[in-house]
Amino acid sequence: MKKHSLLFSLIVLAFACHDEKKEPITPKYVEESHSYARPNTAAITHLDLDIEANFDTKTISGSATYAIDNNVATSIVLDSKFLNITKVQADGKDTTFTLGDFDAQLGRPLIIDIAPNTNSITVFYNTTDQTEALQWLSPQQTADKTHPFLFTQGQAILTRSWIPIQDSPQIRITYNATVKVPKALMAVMSAENPKEKTADGIYTFKMKQPISPYLMALAVGDIQYKAVSHRTGVYAEPSMVDKAQAEFSDMEKMVVAAENLYGDYDWDQFDVIVLPPSFPFGGMENPRLTFATPTVIAGDKSLTSLIAHELAHSWSGNLVTNATWNDFWLNEGFTVYFEIRIMEALYGKDRANMIALIGRQDLEEEVEGFKNEPEMTKLKLDLTNKNPDDGMNSIAYDKGYLFLRTLEETVGREKFDAFLKNYFKTNAFSTVTTEGFVDYLNTNLLEPNAIEFNVDEWIYQPGIPDNQAVIVSDKFENARRTLQSFLDQKTVDVSKTQNWTTQEWVHFIRNFPESITVEDMKRLDDAFHFTNSSNSHIAMVWFEQAINHDYHDHHVDQKIEDFLIRVGRRWYVSTLYKAFKRHDKVDEALEIYHKARGNYHSVTSNTIDEMLGYN
Ligand SMILES: [Zn+2]
Repeated sequence: MKKHSLLFSLIVLAFACHDEKKEPITPKYVEESHSYARPNTAAITHLDLDIEANFDTKTISGSATYAIDNNVATSIVLDSKFLNITKVQADGKDTTFTLGDFDAQLGRPLIIDIAPNTNSITVFYNTTDQTEALQWLSPQQTADKTHPFLFTQGQAILTRSWIPIQDSPQIRITYNATVKVPKALMAVMSAENPKEKTADGIYTFKMKQPISPYLMALAVGDIQYKAVSHRTGVYAEPSMVDKAQAEFSDMEKMVVAAENLYGDYDWDQFDVIVLPPSFPFGGMENPRLTFATPTVIAGDKSLTSLIAHELAHSWSGNLVTNATWNDFWLNEGFTVYFEIRIMEALYGKDRANMIALIGRQDLEEEVEGFKNEPEMTKLKLDLTNKNPDDGMNSIAYDKGYLFLRTLEETVGREKFDAFLKNYFKTNAFSTVTTEGFVDYLNTNLLEPNAIEFNVDEWIYQPGIPDNQAVIVSDKFENARRTLQSFLDQKTVDVSKTQNWTTQEWVHFIRNFPESITVEDMKRLDDAFHFTNSSNSHIAMVWFEQAINHDYHDHHVDQKIEDFLIRVGRRWYVSTLYKAFKRHDKVDEALEIYHKARGNYHSVTSNTIDEMLGYN
């Protein structure tokens, strides 16, 4: 009986020594629409990056040298977007190349002429002012306002806009890098990192575990390091670093909990860098160095499930990777499942179920939002001719989670955990397609235990199947009753909300009835100071309700504007702009957006441009 499918064996790691003799490789990469690369003919296996970050011209320039697994090919194709390619070499000698037609999503294929026995290629290049992965921040846009800052965001298909590369998640490379930056700044990457600044501004990096190109990452700024444990720690601007260390003091406990669930942490070090507020995501799971938004620092560790989430990606995503962006739910659904299990291990079932239920509510709204495009509510997507970002929504995360939780409840936790542990071990440092996963699931869990489960309906059909796990939370029931009694009695008893968690507050606020009045909202705001909340999640849901219900007290309009100008986290800002739009207040939204847009990373501004019809 086969242990795993052909698809699973597709991407066997190229740990291979590069001077080994070449035998023709069998086709091992699946068809993919978001990369021009043809890795079955010639694939990159290792990168030596040598670059300089120039803050005056806002460009990165230098060279990328690749060891290649050459299947007697006469050309190798890389992805590139908005790059200026100046010279290309094969085995150290100049060679010819062509750049294909430009595509707005994919950029241009860089076709390099090589010989059938070429072992390495070098591309000399610089980025341009259109490069989407990079965000160059002025000192004013940082926490300390004294030095500029640069960070990259590679996922999904932006790495090609700062490094010419085979930009497919199926590719895996190790890398070494030398990065030159201004002397006052420190550079860190998704690699072994410095803990102090160098005298000459030159930093060298080594990433010995093979990673997918979307996980290439660089941040440059006036940053400091503080350890949390022997293998975890934080990087942040000087004024933020102590706060970050205190907020994330449970990181070691999280790593231990995660290892207990799904096996050893394979990346040696787990650090987090707190970026300036324009970072477009909550977090990005760059290996060894998670990139995080400062909005996660609430002062009371209440939003640290985000760290559990990025840590979980060390298994689901970074270790076992979605083969294409159509399989993105494999990265995110597993990670949400894993995040909630880590939170349960650290803080108990109540907390875990509250996080799960907030996701459940997001999922409900997402499915409703796609009512005219039901095919977008399938786990396995077809994003041909679409931006992979279109699939980065609650379906992949929360429907993916619900599927796995329903499976867990059906087969029992013990069996499910053993299955998952094996799954990560068997497929470590490789890539999985949805079909490969389904095959693995049938062969290793469902068939041996004679369990009937509607896997195909969950994965290949729209909507949410009837056998979904039912998640309940007494704390949420209580929050809802408390809200109702405040509204019925037209008074607020603050003693009833003592020791509430962020999740309870979020639930409380999101469940305002349509009929809530501005007087009701003012009473709640007077008592709980939502408009001035320092907890970014609570502030965000409150601002959404203020927009929904035309609430204007306590200078909330100004607070919303300040928030939208300062914070670039796409989830937060798109929620608020969407609320404006829903209530025919696009002009108001555009007025703010006009001032805010320059502070956003392209990932965020692309989404909001489209939402508001900005051009
Ligand atoms: Zn994630």
